[in-house]
Amino acid sequence: MPKLTPPTLRDDCFALPAGVDWVPVDQALAFLKENMQVVTETESIGLAHANGRILARQLAARVANPPRANSAVDGYGFAFSSLGDGDQVLPLVSGRSAAGTPFSGSVPSGYAIRILTGGVLPEGVDTVILQEDVTIGEREIAFHSGLKTRANTRQPSEDVGEGGVVLEKGRIRAGDLALCAAVGIAEMQVYKPLRVAVLSTGDELIEAGETPHEGSIFDANRPMLLAAVENFGYTPIDMGRARDDRAHLRQCLDKAAESADVILTSGGASAGDEDHLSALLNEEGAMQMWRIAVKPGRPLALGMWKGKPVFGLPGNPVAALVCTLIFARPAMGVMAGEGWLEPQGFEMPANFEKRKKAGRREYLRARIRDGKVEVFPSEGSGRISGLSWADGLVELSDEAQVIAPGDNVRYIPYCSFGL
Ligand code: AMP
Ligand code: MG
Repeated sequence: MPKLTPPTLRDDCFALPAGVDWVPVDQALAFLKENMQVVTETESIGLAHANGRILARQLAARVANPPRANSAVDGYGFAFSSLGDGDQVLPLVSGRSAAGTPFSGSVPSGYAIRILTGGVLPEGVDTVILQEDVTIGEREIAFHSGLKTRANTRQPSEDVGEGGVVLEKGRIRAGDLALCAAVGIAEMQVYKPLRVAVLSTGDELIEAGETPHEGSIFDANRPMLLAAVENFGYTPIDMGRARDDRAHLRQCLDKAAESADVILTSGGASAGDEDHLSALLNEEGAMQMWRIAVKPGRPLALGMWKGKPVFGLPGNPVAALVCTLIFARPAMGVMAGEGWLEPQGFEMPANFEKRKKAGRREYLRARIRDGKVEVFPSEGSGRISGLSWADGLVELSDEAQVIAPGDNVRYIPYCSFGL
């Protein structure tokens, strides 16, 4: 039987409705959300290798947690119904129940048994008293009454019943692995990691470590984007740099389309003489120039190359990162099987003043100090130092015009974007 592969994205998947000029961010995001789909296949994986992977199918408990009633404390167990009024003295049966070594007999009414945390409640026991609350004699214990029935015990299935859903589709984290193990799950279906090609474009770019020459600058976007892709939990594929030369760029895109599921490029995405990425996508691939009402960020060139989606990011590192976090990451989330990713933001008081145009979303490099949001002093999108200075972004709404110190603003830490 031929191997089943997911459908590819349609060539017009980035085609915004006609007549839209500067698209509001929310509209662009809603469009992306609607048009993306999973592009990776699934595979089976063992628990030990599942951390950080994306679960492809809901998981159900194979056994209950806890599987049997057991003690929540170190103490003494007995039948609640055997207690009388007032202070209690109960003789002890010999033997005990400890985690992993249960007591095989049954405990007669009116007797108590030594029991340790995690020890299965023997037959005849439904209630446990803490060892700190008893006086221990030769072969008996004494304690004040006032316990409730089933005190200090854990009931079978009180956490999860057999067959109950324990995990929905999505990213698997450390706590999820504990839950899977506890309910007897050792294998699961996950999506194969999304392969993301990263390509820089521009004749001016040289590699970190190379000797600079007249007019050269170091390629800052590639290390940043490769690292971001890795942080997102996808597989970064380094496609190097493409010259401002159409034939060379075409070759690079061909290679990227062969080896990856998604292609991130930076630079050359506007409509200038040396903007070969947008020109090439326009001529030979499917291309949509997205003019989004966002700062920083010039047009985003979104297209398809040999069946693979291309995110043509701006060349400026600040704009490239912001566009990656805001637009490319949630779209890649859908393609990877993780679903649309909304970053968690927090309302925090501003420690800055700012005026902006209404009708445009703005993202400022920001960090929290003393419970307030500070922003990087320069908004220049070539100011790479601000990316490193910041711990996150402030998102100023489309409508906002004046932000005064003390006003609440929406702060989104880098970690909320998966960085
Ligand atoms: P472009 O979009 O190609 O016109 O580039 C816009 C600006 O970003 C120019 O100043 C480029 O030199 C700069 N730039 C483009 N790509 C990179 C890169 N990979 N690293 C650092 N700066 C870049
Ligand atoms: Mg360029």
